[in-house]
Amino acid sequence: MISHAELAAEFGTPLYVYDLDELAAARDELFAALPEEFELFYALKANPHPGIVRELRTGARSCRAEISSTGELTAALAAGFTGADCLYTGPGKTAGELAEAIGHGVRLFSTDSVTDVRRVGAVATAHGVVADCLLRVNSVTASAATSIRMTGVPSQFGFDSETLIELLPALREVPGTRLAGMHFFPLSNADEASLIGEFQHTIATAAELAAAAELPLRYLDIGGGFAAPYGVPGERGAYPTLRGELAVALDKYLPSWRAGRPQIACESGRFLVGASGTLVTQVSNVKISRGRKFVIADAGINTFGGMSGLGRLLPVAVGLAPDSRGEQASLVGPLCTPGDVLGRHIALPPVEPGDLLSVPNTGAYGPTASLLMFLGRPAPMEVLVRGDRVVSASRIDYRRVEHVLPAKFESTEGI
Ligand SMILES: *Cc1c(COP(=O)(O)O)cnc(C)c1O
Repeated sequence: MISHAELAAEFGTPLYVYDLDELAAARDELFAALPEEFELFYALKANPHPGIVRELRTGARSCRAEISSTGELTAALAAGFTGADCLYTGPGKTAGELAEAIGHGVRLFSTDSVTDVRRVGAVATAHGVVADCLLRVNSVTASAATSIRMTGVPSQFGFDSETLIELLPALREVPGTRLAGMHFFPLSNADEASLIGEFQHTIATAAELAAAAELPLRYLDIGGGFAAPYGVPGERGAYPTLRGELAVALDKYLPSWRAGRPQIACESGRFLVGASGTLVTQVSNVKISRGRKFVIADAGINTFGGMSGLGRLLPVAVGLAPDSRGEQASLVGPLCTPGDVLGRHIALPPVEPGDLLSVPNTGAYGPTASLLMFLGRPAPMEVLVRGDRVVSASRIDYRRVEHVLPAKFESTEGI
């Protein structure tokens, strides 16, 4: 493979390198861990780069696209998906977004409330089409179900499973919609035992709800939660017995599933793309403060893990491959905020200004989950490689400003 040093010399830093062969390997690995009748959605939230999305669309078995904004719709279409390949999700869909989606042929929506279904229906009707709605179910998780208090968690997502049945009469008669099934997404980043337990519980809950409510169950998206390391060395989760366990649970609760009644789907973001990415950052300074060492790099929370820097997403604790000469230091970014820390007291090789550091497993929740605009540095370069070939190099330009002041506000200031 082409070296990170060569790429950094060519394109500058901070730099994301995405390895398309690794991406294809993760895609094939996840398909192999699922029964062959399953569909798999790629959650574009994890990385909407069109080159990444395109790779997941291709292959012997290709993903469909899980999107939740007009921007993600645009990325999916740019990667060659059609609207019909997409599942549109999210608790706050607007009429404008829905019109874009339906206008581009999206027909499958995960819905979170009666208002949401009605809005989908109104837009579909205006376009003269019928939209399939999955009811997203906020159920009691498997681990909560085995504990004493059997309550789900309050959430903006989904219909509370306890009250869904009462709402069905209203949901059934929304013009422009057809109730197609259910969508669950109860957990993230889980090991095999937790995932199997959760899927068994989800499948049982879906079958029970469908029977109790006489709900047509043509499509069942049981969610995901396939694990991948985030910015630290390590391997993707391994799911060697999942395929067999899923088949057992489905045979028990939904015996016609192999004939596509219902069609079953899973979804994933980080497992598919995490390992394909490496963040290459250059050390700009090394300093000691009161006995503590700080390595200042040109990538901070504007480049990686910004939302986690605010305690809002995933814990960021960057790590590098073990180095016998390693010494403890904090890896910090260039921003003027003490929160710009990628790793506190981590093992780092001895480095000097100008050296490069490669942070592994950064293909998911990178640039678009970071504080790109904060403090005005350019977005990182993103380079796609396949073997020794560089197949694309690009950079998000967030600095393009759209001036929208209507004439009636015309002022002489000319800002
Ligand atoms: C975020 C999200 C995903 C992807 O989650 P990962 O943990 O990255 O696999 C999948 N489905 C839905 C509905 C999501 O919101």
